[in-house]
Amino acid sequence: MGSGQVTDWQGKNVTVAGLGVSGIPAAKVLHGLGAKVTVVNDGDDTRAREQAAELQALGITVRLGDGATLPEGTDLIVTAPGWKPDKPLFTAAREAGVPVWGDVELAWRLRGPDAAPWLAVTGTNGKTTTVQMLASILKAAGLRTAAVGNIGVSLLDAVLGEEQYDVLAVELSSYQLHWAPSLRAHSAAVLNLAPDHLDWHGSMEAYAKDKGRIYEGNRVACVYNVADKATEDLVREADVEEGCRAVGFTLGTPGPSQLGVVEGLLVDRAFVESRQKNAQELAEVSDINPPAPHNIANALAAAALARAFGVPAKAVRDGLRAFTPDAHRIAHVADVDGVAYVDDSKATNTHAAEASLAAYESIVWIAGGLAKGATFDELVAKSAKRLRGVVLIGADRALIREALARHAPEVPVVDLDRTDTGAMLQAVQEAQRLAVAGDTVLLAPACASMDMFANYNKRGDAFAEAVRELGAGT
Ligand code: ADP
Repeated sequence: MGSGQVTDWQGKNVTVAGLGVSGIPAAKVLHGLGAKVTVVNDGDDTRAREQAAELQALGITVRLGDGATLPEGTDLIVTAPGWKPDKPLFTAAREAGVPVWGDVELAWRLRGPDAAPWLAVTGTNGKTTTVQMLASILKAAGLRTAAVGNIGVSLLDAVLGEEQYDVLAVELSSYQLHWAPSLRAHSAAVLNLAPDHLDWHGSMEAYAKDKGRIYEGNRVACVYNVADKATEDLVREADVEEGCRAVGFTLGTPGPSQLGVVEGLLVDRAFVESRQKNAQELAEVSDINPPAPHNIANALAAAALARAFGVPAKAVRDGLRAFTPDAHRIAHVADVDGVAYVDDSKATNTHAAEASLAAYESIVWIAGGLAKGATFDELVAKSAKRLRGVVLIGADRALIREALARHAPEVPVVDLDRTDTGAMLQAVQEAQRLAVAGDTVLLAPACASMDMFANYNKRGDAFAEAVRELGAGT
């Protein structure tokens, strides 16, 4: 298994690690190509058994309840991206010299010779929004494209399916990048870097290094965030194709080789002739939905990648105008008695919540959940002056309460000592009591939701439901 395309899979022993959204299609595709596939999985529950039976019926071997041992004779492991690198299976693979690919690497290796180039996006926050904006811009330019990858649309399907694409807008997580050693994008962006998933990567350095892989071998542009030096450092460390450029995006006035904002306009000083003197107007800030600062940054990153691909300025504007954000991302739910209720349940870490809190002047903040090892001092200190009050929910709320006591002792805090699903209605009622007309009640939990809800969607739905009950009662 070298670094190029693998054309002959006949008789290759491939171990697929993990039954799941990436493992099952990978196993089927590799089996179809003639490989001898064994799927290994830690779990052995009813669902796993059903899935295993389906694969076994096709002639694929499945080993349930043992994801640790390397099957005899394995030539290659294809792993689910979430599997931690320190698992014994990977230690055994390293000792035996067996390569490990993730789902992205597999798609990259299986794509055809005329496959569409990839414009790739990673970052701690804003990935989904940015690839969706990018796809919208590319479509406005008349290109055949799709937003794929970590966004929930399988890269394997995009690469092997019937549909023909001119270019793909690809969202990549740090896990996927970790397991994608030979990926070479046309151009790529790292939106921002803040501590997240450190338990998986082991350290901030390892996390940054995995994110930085997205720049490896870029051909046209490495797009970085001028306000986040760590992203620029990753560009500097990357080994890129001759002539590939570093292009920054900034909420301020852009320098040469940057995209930025001047008097309410998004402007491009990178992909223009004689960039020392010229700038190209791309769109108005008001074309972005919603025009919160972090979202303007996302739009600039998307524009930079589209421009790297040669998209005209007008398509940037049309694409941004056509874009609507996914649910639970700064979604305005309702106004009740002059108070706006906003659902940013997707703010599952402190960095995202910080961006969200920066978008409003006077806020009653609903926060809490599972902290995933995060600390809240910086977030609270930066946001304190905007807080009218705070309502805390969830398992790790004490961590936020303590940070509030340290950095915002004057802000009233309601601490809800319950983690059942009904707590959201009470949280919204408490928030209503704290808010005055003109305020925003903002659900931006800075935490994961799984202590109280199945996922962040359900948490956002519960919030919206509670807001509707308030509205009905007035
Ligand atoms: P991701 O796919 O990286 O999780 P999303 O686009 O789904 O990102 O946005 C997740 C949350 O992160 C949003 O709800 C918002 O709170 C926050 N966010 C979005 N873009 C940014 C950004 N550029 N910087 C900081 N926070 C952001």
